[in-house]
Amino acid sequence: MTSVQLIDEPGGKVPVVAEADLVVVGGGPAGISAAVAGARNGLSVVLLERYAYLGGLASGGMVLVLDDMCNGNEVTVKGICSELIDRMTTMGLCVTPPEADWVANDAKFQQWARWGTYNFHSHSKPQPVCYASAFDPDGFKRASNDMVAEAKVNLRLHSWFSKTIVEDSVVKGVICDSKSGRQAILGKVVVDATGDLDVAASAGAAHSHGSFIVTTVFRLGGVDTDEAERFEYQEPEAFAAIDREAKRIMGGSWERWWLKTPLPGIVWCNCPHMAGFDGTSVEDLTRADFKGRERIANLVEYVRASVPGFQNAFVVDVAPQIGVRTSRLLEGEYVLTKEDVASRRHFTDSVARGRDYYYPYRSLLPKDVKQLLVAGRHYSSTAAAQRISREIPPCMAMGEAVGVAAAVALDQGVSVDKVDIAKVQRLLREQGADPGDAPAPNATFQQAAE
Ligand SMILES: Cc1cc2nc3c(=O)[nH]c(=O)nc-3n(C[C@H](O)[C@H](O)[C@H](O)COP(=O)(O)OP(=O)(O)OC[C@H]3O[C@@H](n4cnc5c(N)ncnc54)[C@H](O)[C@@H]3O)c2cc1C
Repeated sequence: MTSVQLIDEPGGKVPVVAEADLVVVGGGPAGISAAVAGARNGLSVVLLERYAYLGGLASGGMVLVLDDMCNGNEVTVKGICSELIDRMTTMGLCVTPPEADWVANDAKFQQWARWGTYNFHSHSKPQPVCYASAFDPDGFKRASNDMVAEAKVNLRLHSWFSKTIVEDSVVKGVICDSKSGRQAILGKVVVDATGDLDVAASAGAAHSHGSFIVTTVFRLGGVDTDEAERFEYQEPEAFAAIDREAKRIMGGSWERWWLKTPLPGIVWCNCPHMAGFDGTSVEDLTRADFKGRERIANLVEYVRASVPGFQNAFVVDVAPQIGVRTSRLLEGEYVLTKEDVASRRHFTDSVARGRDYYYPYRSLLPKDVKQLLVAGRHYSSTAAAQRISREIPPCMAMGEAVGVAAAVALDQGVSVDKVDIAKVQRLLREQGADPGDAPAPNATFQQAAE
């Protein structure tokens, strides 16, 4: 291991610029939900975000399908996530298959496959069309702005979290770096929704370090999607050969490398996937960005020359945030395993659901640090479990749960690790969310996991 030169950082005083009941760090799907839920339940809330917009990977990472929110035809993620979908739909910036189309047949699959609104965990062919929503990134930002403003959340953009303030293992607030200098924000409860566990790691909470492919998502405009789909379904052999070559050039993608968006002629491309990059390393993130753009340029040259419907395609934008799926993962009071997720194991302290699996409150609770909760893709799980349980809607459900839990704990005058879970579940249900307190018929139970 190479030795690193160290310098002494001069100490100094940092101004306290805000104080609140609840401080949420990270304005992605989980953080927005935590902040809105906390504020709606009577807390004063500060929401901190490093970038100039809300939405995290959903908007800045241009991850443009909300999925993993149904168990067959049962909708399992509701609450703030459903509300966001409704708001974007009203703006004309979100497309969801109607319930009548949630079936498995070739016609419906062909109609919806290029929207990405089908159950890709299903092994049957065709895969069933399901409740999932294709949305526009600016729609996500606008709807999120509206929701935090209406809830009177004190939103502070352009604020980079840098350090957790901890006294005797109790989190007291955070320090941010910003154009205005270093700033302290104090809170009675802090939620880490950074996706990379920045706050909990800085506080000394136990965690592991997972790693998975990263992706430089981009959008193409000028695409004739009708012609591209006609070619796909009417000339399947020619399509397969060209599609194979496109995937070889980009060097990594899912089965469908482009999907439709609510904007006509604009598609999003969940590729190229690249392995071997650490989402918390400046050097790796810089290299990945360069590599991704190079592959995109090569791909666009090919598809313009070869893919029917893409002759006039052009790059609209490359996502400002590189797509990091996994980095640090909390090792909290309970660590969810792949077996828990795959077997749909139910927990009595479940406070959120994904498609057919459950998140116990303990998986949002660090072991060794008080008054800190986590929500989002860095929740307490093994890397293998996180890979199949980190989509946007369940991250929102986790955020909503910790926002409500913080409010209940402060109201009852207890620390967040002693909160009345039954009351949290009841409030979530009353407010339109599904905490997973009532297990679905296909859930499994193992006392040993409790
Ligand atoms: C390429 C890719 C494709 C995906 N495809 C899908 C899909 O099709 N459907 C789906 O539902 N999910 C998909 N996912 C997963 C999903 O996007 C994420 O798991 C989800 O967005 C996680 O939400 P989050 O709020 O936990 O974290 P994030 O979305 O990462 O949000 C974290 C927020 O915290 C902010 N932040 C981070 N560090 C700091 C700091 N130090 N100071 C201040 N702010 C900070 C970030 O700027 C960001 O706003 C995909 C992910 C990737 C990367």
